[in-house]
Amino acid sequence: MIEVKEKTRFLSELSCAFGPTPDAPRSGTITSIGLRECFVKTKAIVIEGQDLFVRVWMPDNRWLRLSGRVKYHMSGVGFGVVFAAPTRPPSASGLGRRGGRRVAGLHAPCHNVFKGETAEIRMRKTEAGGAAPAPGVLSVEGLRKTYGATVAVEAVTFDVRPGEIVGLLGPNGAGKTTTISMILGVLEPTAGAVFIEGIDVRRERSRALGRTNFAAVYAPLPGNLTVAQSLRVFGMIYGVARLQARIDELLAEFDLRLFRDTKCGVLSSGEQTRVALAKAMLNRPHLLLLDEPTASLDPSSARDIRARMRGFASRGEGGVLWTSHNMYEVEEVCDRVLFLSKGRILLEGDPRALPREHGRASLEELFITVAREPLSLGLGGGL
Ligand code: ATP
Repeated sequence: MIEVKEKTRFLSELSCAFGPTPDAPRSGTITSIGLRECFVKTKAIVIEGQDLFVRVWMPDNRWLRLSGRVKYHMSGVGFGVVFAAPTRPPSASGLGRRGGRRVAGLHAPCHNVFKGETAEIRMRKTEAGGAAPAPGVLSVEGLRKTYGATVAVEAVTFDVRPGEIVGLLGPNGAGKTTTISMILGVLEPTAGAVFIEGIDVRRERSRALGRTNFAAVYAPLPGNLTVAQSLRVFGMIYGVARLQARIDELLAEFDLRLFRDTKCGVLSSGEQTRVALAKAMLNRPHLLLLDEPTASLDPSSARDIRARMRGFASRGEGGVLWTSHNMYEVEEVCDRVLFLSKGRILLEGDPRALPREHGRASLEELFITVAREPLSLGLGGGL
């Protein structure tokens, strides 16, 4: 039990995600929170009496997961949730920093809590054994991108933890590349935020991207530079220390020594992919974004690349966000998948367990159902 020492204070900018399941696909802002309830500012519509999960992004870069019931809804403004169990944030520190800006921590004394009151502290356990989740190498919060009337990405919220390979799946036009472009700061989100190891990409792009790298077939290396020259140029851009030694290491690791002095433009597409992956590892990234990395590889090279990337993740060197249309590959390589459809995350989970959980024989079958008939799985809220 704790004793509440002060009373109400309102919060202004604590991001949250909420929804009927723990993956909580919609986004909002917590404007006040107490031990028993909170108010979520959002334009999304919820139903009074509905059970909801709320994930709150803590100033120490962790998700606080709560569950509760919608007490009242104010259309266009937001709603109040009563928690299923009295709660309190895990950290007892004062104000926290996020992306260089000060934000009020949840532990700030707040709404509906009265001086002298006592309350039980009970955190929802989010991982086996009750351990707090590791801070994400990537945290995406309420991302939205519109092009005129076209909504390419809507309320996309997820994180990638160190050592984890997360698959971003979805049919053509689902919003995968748009999401990756916003993570890289190449596209300006219409709303939402991206944090790489807690650094806000919008505010400190260079610092955030210094820990990141990227490979995609649609971003080939300059064709008129040799493999060694390309790696040198990118290594200099990333400020890689002991660059020559690092290049030699990567040429060996990606089986590229033979092509050291060959121009990238004359390499086969599979060889170019290996160079692109070597380039992606130059700065020893903590976050690796791979957009269909094996799309142009033969089965043997693709297997080799998957093994290398699994090795990278399992050594705990970083986390990976991986897109692919190859469900066999996704099952083999990804720890977790997110299904995007029409810009929204409809489903999240272990690619080996998800098909069974939804009564489908394979991940491919589940993919097709999510893409074509999400309502048959009880998904598709907001579509
Ligand atoms: P694919 O698997 O085919 O690569 P994707 O999931 O990567 O698809 P995106 O490229 O992110 O999909 O596109 C998402 C949606 O946004 C599509 O409907 C696309 O037409 C639209 N879109 C993307 N870029 C633009 C743009 N510059 N202007 C207008 N609409 C765009």
